[in-house]
Amino acid sequence: MDFKQQYSWEFLSPEEIEQRSIRALRNHIRHIRQISPWYGEKLENIEPDDIKTVDDFRLIPFTERKDLEGNPDCFHCVTEEQIVETVITETQNRKQIPFILTVTDLDRIAYYEALSFHSTGINSSDRAQILVNMDMMSNIAMAYYRGLITLGVNTMRSGLLPVDMHKYNIQSLSPTVLIGEPSYLKKLAVELQKFSFDTRNSSVEKLICTVESLRTPDMNLSPNGNILEELWGAQIYSTYTSPEISASYCDCTEQNGGHSHPELVFTEIIDEKGNSVPDGTTGELVATPLGVEGMPLLRYKTGDITFAVSGKCSCGRNSIRIGPILGKKSQLFKLNGTTVYPLTITNALDQLDEVKDYILIVENESSLTDRVFLHVAAPASCIEKISNQIRTAANVSFPILISNTTTIQAFRKNPGKNMHILDCRKKG
Ligand SMILES: [Zn+2]
Repeated sequence: MDFKQQYSWEFLSPEEIEQRSIRALRNHIRHIRQISPWYGEKLENIEPDDIKTVDDFRLIPFTERKDLEGNPDCFHCVTEEQIVETVITETQNRKQIPFILTVTDLDRIAYYEALSFHSTGINSSDRAQILVNMDMMSNIAMAYYRGLITLGVNTMRSGLLPVDMHKYNIQSLSPTVLIGEPSYLKKLAVELQKFSFDTRNSSVEKLICTVESLRTPDMNLSPNGNILEELWGAQIYSTYTSPEISASYCDCTEQNGGHSHPELVFTEIIDEKGNSVPDGTTGELVATPLGVEGMPLLRYKTGDITFAVSGKCSCGRNSIRIGPILGKKSQLFKLNGTTVYPLTITNALDQLDEVKDYILIVENESSLTDRVFLHVAAPASCIEKISNQIRTAANVSFPILISNTTTIQAFRKNPGKNMHILDCRKKG
């Protein structure tokens, strides 16, 4: 398909974007009420023509992950013959959800990702290597691949390879863009440098980083972001996606929040009671993907905590941006009445060179507070420094246990994942 950036609404005025969004949402509701077994019942008493404002739309019930887990087939809106691909959403500690896609859905994802990559300044003269596995029915690598192809970028599906093969691929094919998880890109740079490969002066100009947020709430690079920037001598861009919403929020060239593409997704941030919160206030990201055929959703609660940034971005776009993901809603914990965002703690610890690895274990104590322990691979003499760092960042304290990397790794159910939070709470 041809990439035509001018089809996007992101450069329209905020008022025009809102008016078009309301019309699109009205059409979306009208459509899925007719064809979706799930929404046909849920929207029985909603009249699409009554949706005249964003506030009207906010009266529609949310869709939650547990709805999809329990009844995935009820969300199917096309015939078996129209389905051309099935993917599985992320599986970490959660039930897998198969997602069906039509040809139109694949084109939509391609266009969406092309818009996201385009906003980072990537264009058809770039060469990109995707350092994410394309298999395991993942839709993330597939989406990146299709987006880059749509943008006309010379795209290389490198995946996860031994270091010497990455070295050969980067030296011989001179990619200008690498796409991958920050922990993998960091480890790769360190290993390549051991092979006398000067990563700081390689062909790589941009790193597109998935999964882990690399910005602090004030949009500066996080400690890990700074390390990656230094290791690769490249610009760092974060992109966030939740597979269920078939959309991503990617940094633009101004690196001032992840842009939505409003013609393809309607974005909300809500508090714990489901009410909309003002710009800059943290809450749960709720997304309504537009134009999806196979499994369209309405007001999907992603479970991810962030905040919205409206207004004109200095890149010229007027689409709503989101800040870094501060953690999963299910991972927020309470200590003596204070709500703590996991990213605040992890960013604080990542700033300390003495800390080689760590894992935060969260357990139930009471309805007002959780019990938290930090296992940290660091010299015992650093306990006070670590404690002060956490208190300064989050105004909380909890027991810190000096440990080692082997013990910490043993806590992780999936040794391949650089997981720093182990949530042992029983959900009530
Ligand atoms: Zn921008």
